[in-house]
Amino acid sequence: MKLYRTELDSGLNKKQFLVKSDSLGIKNAKDRVKCVLSCDKTSTGYRLYGKVFCDIKLSCDRCLSENEKQIKTTLNILLTNDRDIVRENNADIVMFTISDDFVDISSILHDVIELEKPIKSLCGDDCKGICPSCGIDLNLNQCRCKNNFSINEFDKLKDLIK
Ligand SMILES: [Zn+2]
Ligand SMILES: [Zn+2]
Repeated sequence: MKLYRTELDSGLNKKQFLVKSDSLGIKNAKDRVKCVLSCDKTSTGYRLYGKVFCDIKLSCDRCLSENEKQIKTTLNILLTNDRDIVRENNADIVMFTISDDFVDISSILHDVIELEKPIKSLCGDDCKGICPSCGIDLNLNQCRCKNNFSINEFDKLKDLIK
């Protein structure tokens, strides 16, 4: 996602941007990422800040059903022409010299969204998951396995036969 100096100079105020999620390399995202960005001038450049929204598709860890979740996160980037500030190596500081016409914040956008993705994903806290014996989705259907044997009971029975 490129931002041009002329755009930054005009003083962004909660301006909405739609960015193709493919261009940011975000996996399982719906087609577009929405950013609402503002920009202030600083003594060495600009401060760019705002909110980022991205709808992603998740599959439930228990029943594998697909569901969607909106990720909301914030962006706070310092664009500066001061090499000393950049050298401190903060990920959210980007070198932006007087001769640069634009700055590309795609990799920062990618990182803030990836960081917000949940590590675990359930379609709901009460998801019953999939029956380990017959594979039926227990949220949608009841299977007969439960009424006969649970896996543990079946193992006990096998021990008796031995
Ligand atoms: Zn589930
Ligand atoms: Zn079953």
